[in-house]
Amino acid sequence: MTERSLPFLPVAEPDLGPLEEQYLLEAFRSGWISSLGEFIGRFEQSFASFCGVEHAVAVSNGTAALHLALLAVGVGPGDEVVVPALTFVATASTVLYAGAEPVFVDSESGIGTMDPRAVERAITPRTKAIIPVHLYGHPADMDPILAIAQKHGITVIEDAAEAHGAKYKGRTVGSMGHLSTFSFYGNKILTTGEGGMVVTSDANLDERIRYLKDHAMDPTRRYWHSEVGYNYRMTNLQAAIGCAQLERFEELSARRKHVLDLYRKTFADRAHIQFNPSRTWATPIPWLVCALLPEGTSRANRDALMAKLKMVGVDSRPYFHLPSGMPPYEKFRFVGLGGSESLRMAEDLSARGMNLPSLGRLTVGDVLRMQPLFLERT
Ligand SMILES: *Cc1c(COP(=O)(O)O)cnc(C)c1O
Repeated sequence: MTERSLPFLPVAEPDLGPLEEQYLLEAFRSGWISSLGEFIGRFEQSFASFCGVEHAVAVSNGTAALHLALLAVGVGPGDEVVVPALTFVATASTVLYAGAEPVFVDSESGIGTMDPRAVERAITPRTKAIIPVHLYGHPADMDPILAIAQKHGITVIEDAAEAHGAKYKGRTVGSMGHLSTFSFYGNKILTTGEGGMVVTSDANLDERIRYLKDHAMDPTRRYWHSEVGYNYRMTNLQAAIGCAQLERFEELSARRKHVLDLYRKTFADRAHIQFNPSRTWATPIPWLVCALLPEGTSRANRDALMAKLKMVGVDSRPYFHLPSGMPPYEKFRFVGLGGSESLRMAEDLSARGMNLPSLGRLTVGDVLRMQPLFLERT
């Protein structure tokens, strides 16, 4: 068998089993296939307790969750929202949906989450919210961020789309901000196909989000809408899959950790490649396997390595491009560290970071297929 004929390894795939199938069929046979039905409430309640918060609202996806969270705390035109420079675009695009302006802040070394020192420097009288992102399953350094927010009376929205179940100093992500959002897209730690959740312990915010996600229908007067609302509802079919995924969380997260260990062991003699760097205060859940090439590696060399991996049937993906470099976002402020304003850290990580196949079924043989390509110091 030549290397080329080996089965193609994608970066991610959903891990669905008989429990998901059983619940999905139950939902299907009940006839409740839209956004009413018993799995919705069940998924919301079990997800709230999973995060250690009072309320959870199931929504159509993680982007809708962010949009609703911003609207619920009153973010609008004239406001600034501090977001990390290195993130998936939805963290920034939803700030624009709300009519406000994103302000991009530089990353912490290695882990890539927003640097609290840059956050401090980004605050102005117009700052209304801060959105720390728990990147690739590693929590952001929340304590200093929460302290800055408290000092200035600013709302914190955790974007936990990539970090279900990760912990920061023993606290579960999603339980620290005023509001937090999750995604259940097909490649996330827990999936419902498409789906999202907003969680909070504030009953007023919970009520406001339920109202906005369902066309802003007056709770006391049916089909009366005093405000413009949205249809951001999740279906009962999705919630059924979500209930099963949540019950399997320990199994799913153990698999992800096992896969990361497999890479670390197999790459033990490739000390120049760093896998999922983490801080001592973090208990990450590796969402995707992150490989950082040596400092100073250029984007072109990283991309060349990815092309070589593809030749042996291994998919990979680059770290996120910084939204601040893309047309809709380039006009907004960005804040680095020290005198010269730059997003130096975030740019460096974006250039030399890549995600490798993060499948529960990965074998040592699969990892050995990739490892020789990393021999050459790029
Ligand atoms: C996936 C993701 C989202 C958006 O989730 P969707 O469900 O795809 O809309 C938001 N923020 C981050 C950081 C993500 O990784």
